[in-house]
Amino acid sequence: MALLVPWIYPSLFLFSHLLFRAFQPCESLRNYLENEVTLLDSMSALGDLGWEAYPAEGWEEISVMDERNIPMRTYQVCNVMEANQNNWLRTRHIAREGAQRVYIEIKFTLRDCNSLPGVPGTCKETFNMFYYESNNANQWHIKESNYVKIDTIAADESFTQVDVGDRVMKLNTEVRDISNLSKKGFYLAFQDLGACIALVSVRVFYKKCPLTVLNLAQFPDTVTGGDSALVEVRGVCVNASEEFEAPRMYCSADGGWLVPIGRCVCQPGYEEQMDMCQPCKPGSYKASATDTYCTKCPPHSSSHLERASECLCEKGFHRAESDQRSTPCTRPPSAPESPISTVNETCVTLEWSSPRDSGGRGDITYNIHCRKCSGDNKKCMPCGSGVHFVPRQFGLSATMVMITDLQPHSNYSLTIESLNGVSDLSPSPRAAVVVNVTTSQTVSVVLKERRSKDSITLAWQGPDRSNGVTVEYEVTYYEKNQREQNYTVLKTRSNVMTVDGLKPGTTYVFHVRARTPGGHGTYGGTIELETSHEDMLAIGDPNQSTILAVSIAGGILLLIFLVTCFVVSGRHCGYIKAKQDPDEEKMQFQHGRVKLPGSKTYIDPHTYEDPNKAVRDFAKEIDASTIRIERVIGAGEFGEVCSGRLRLQGKREIYVAIKSLKAGYSDKQRRDFLSEASIMGQFDHPNIIRLEGVVTRCKPVMIITEFMENGSLDTFLKKHDGQFTVIQLVGMLRGIASGMKYLSDMGYVHRDLAARNILVNSNLVCKVSDFGLSRVLEDDPEAAYTTRGGKIPIRWTSPEAIAYRKFTSASDVWSYGIVMWEVVSYGERPYWEMSNQDVIKAIDEGYRLPAPMDCPVVLHQLMLDCWENGRGERPKFDQIVTTLDELIRNPAKLQELANSSICREDPTTPEFTVSTVEEWLEAIKMGQYQENFSSAGYVTLDSVLYISISELVRMNVTLAGHQKKILSSVQGLLSQGAHVQV
Ligand code: AMP
Repeated sequence: MALLVPWIYPSLFLFSHLLFRAFQPCESLRNYLENEVTLLDSMSALGDLGWEAYPAEGWEEISVMDERNIPMRTYQVCNVMEANQNNWLRTRHIAREGAQRVYIEIKFTLRDCNSLPGVPGTCKETFNMFYYESNNANQWHIKESNYVKIDTIAADESFTQVDVGDRVMKLNTEVRDISNLSKKGFYLAFQDLGACIALVSVRVFYKKCPLTVLNLAQFPDTVTGGDSALVEVRGVCVNASEEFEAPRMYCSADGGWLVPIGRCVCQPGYEEQMDMCQPCKPGSYKASATDTYCTKCPPHSSSHLERASECLCEKGFHRAESDQRSTPCTRPPSAPESPISTVNETCVTLEWSSPRDSGGRGDITYNIHCRKCSGDNKKCMPCGSGVHFVPRQFGLSATMVMITDLQPHSNYSLTIESLNGVSDLSPSPRAAVVVNVTTSQTVSVVLKERRSKDSITLAWQGPDRSNGVTVEYEVTYYEKNQREQNYTVLKTRSNVMTVDGLKPGTTYVFHVRARTPGGHGTYGGTIELETSHEDMLAIGDPNQSTILAVSIAGGILLLIFLVTCFVVSGRHCGYIKAKQDPDEEKMQFQHGRVKLPGSKTYIDPHTYEDPNKAVRDFAKEIDASTIRIERVIGAGEFGEVCSGRLRLQGKREIYVAIKSLKAGYSDKQRRDFLSEASIMGQFDHPNIIRLEGVVTRCKPVMIITEFMENGSLDTFLKKHDGQFTVIQLVGMLRGIASGMKYLSDMGYVHRDLAARNILVNSNLVCKVSDFGLSRVLEDDPEAAYTTRGGKIPIRWTSPEAIAYRKFTSASDVWSYGIVMWEVVSYGERPYWEMSNQDVIKAIDEGYRLPAPMDCPVVLHQLMLDCWENGRGERPKFDQIVTTLDELIRNPAKLQELANSSICREDPTTPEFTVSTVEEWLEAIKMGQYQENFSSAGYVTLDSVLYISISELVRMNVTLAGHQKKILSSVQGLLSQGAHVQV
């Protein structure tokens, strides 16, 4: 035991003071620094530290008590009086516990040599610290040279005198570190070379990044790396969470977590709360891990248990496969409402209103089921495949269908079924409404007439009665001179009638119409017959008969297409109204009066000195408060075009189109804008857009016209490509021709007749519109080639009108030919992408547009006639109307297609050879359905040979025109099997 030198001894008590006070903050710091793991702490050693000191007279272990009477181990050395000191103090083996870098914190006091009286110059004020790495925990002696020096430690503060005042004792704290340790542990050593030191405490520790949870990922306690390297750590998702992006963080050398990357998210049915995933409460759900919070169950669904990832639908409600779990549960719709049937002979148009209850969905469609019934409606059988549905039978999205090719004089039960996306999930039968209809057939030809002094006999051919159908005819006549004031209606079941009691030598006007169980037809054409001045017999007078036949023939058109359609609802069978002859319409009886055709002439409003007067003369002023604007439907040259409603006093509300003049207009613009109304207001024809009136007394200035639900014809046709029968197309063309005949009769030249300037209403009636351009073309040579859309109407304009501005009804006929081409090609651009200059050149060189696909020869011929170079050689509009009427009466004439010989590629022609489904579809220009065919399993040609229409529907080939094309091509393939390389 070394003797304590007297000057140091008293300090021991002070140490204990000092130690206690000095370590107070350190203790708390130690608690505070949770990222430090202590490997050795001399202060907390209860017994002997067991360190090795040599030589024996060097370092000495001393136990002292701190203020709390807890023994403390310290080492001292103070051999300052003797030279050549080399005193070593070595700790026991310190296991490094995986740490690569450890820190050594030492606390010591050191006596200032100068303060010691009589000490030699060998007195030191520093000591050295070493380490030695070893796997051996019980190593005996370690050679000095084997130690690695950590540092020479000097006191920041040494003390100079022994005093009881604690202020003189200075405790030094130094921290050093050693890196890149690799063995199991190490020994620390303190070398004294002649100083007076008390080593109060030695603490060895390493740093770690403590266990932490971040972004729902848990990162474990992680020992920091050697040197200053970062340690990459992969986090583990906490309970009920899953990786959204692999969570990672870096543990830095000083025990801090850095750079969090990735995250975990709570699984469906759980939401994040305070670094944990908590289950959703009953009544709420969380469908996807990426949703942040649990949300309340959507309407008509509930969750009774915790942690629901979806809410189940209430009874009677469903969710379609494609529905999001966040959407309310829905149910099938109620039945369609207010069904209306319009029978036109063997064609029935059904219209209905949407179901009152949509079931909460927007994807309502309709299916039609057709059954043919016995006379008493007791036995009904499915209609079979002969009946056709336009646009289709199943999956209709519009509330209208046309059913064609029914048998005449038969009863049908037609069921309109409403469905939506959950109908298939519901066990209940589908809501439906049933409509019973009876088909008919009407007058076809008038045969003969006979006249006498006071009687006239008419005979005509009526509908086929073989089905036991009852037909009644109404013959209406009046004296021509008396006009409509006095007319008589006679009825007969026979198709011959003698009208007696007539005045001799007087001209009478007759109309005939038929009535079948399907309803009344409209009146046929008129016939004017004069009674003879004296008795004479004129049976079968060839001239008379011809006149009668021709005259009534005009009416046949109406009888074929209009009969019965008006009876049930007042609505029309699709295209029917388009075929009405306006002149005939004017002959109809209205409230006991016959409306006679006027022989008005168009007056150019620009000839008025005061253009406002023209507006007052031709257009009715409407009170703006009676107009309700609802939505914007288009843009006109002068401003927006809107749809809305108009309620005129004492009349029912009607839908109207409202064109308004945008603000900031000039006087000229106002005049030009209103000139359209002044022109339109002069016309009164079913195929000319009707002017309701104008608003000029307040702003904005407006023009109100009837509303045309299907908008402009070109857009409409493009939207319904291939969906109409050729008869329907001819019906539309007939309507336009009829409107143009009316205009040309009035002496009005349109100058911008084009499909874009034809409007279509919900009954497919086409009406000529756009009467604003003519003036612009006439006045402004620059504007001659512009239309409102900024397009040049060259493609629609005749050569003489382009060349020297010779605009006449004959140039309108040229344009009409182009409209015909547009209609038959479903809105194709005339001359496609050819430039205007090329078009002019090509026309000059005799080129004419070829027949569009599936165009009947007769229609193309009519187009070519309209495009005769000499305007005198072009047909007049009345001839065009007559030609189209004839075609409607004899649809067989439309059968020969112009391009059947051109279409070499058509698989129905013998030249055609295909070997794959792709080639076949490409050849018939149905290549867009390749995907549909292959995903339905039709990969070889032989597999398509017996394909049915329902299969096509299933494959989403829903356009009637396309179905027809594919099926007729399949027929072709079948009939020329030898050419098909299957
Ligand atoms: P416009 O200025 O006459 O060329 O009209 C511009 C657009 O508004 C047309 O292309 C149609 O789409 C629409 N439009 C004009 N008038 C009517 C109408 N009476 N009914 C429905 N849409 C119309």
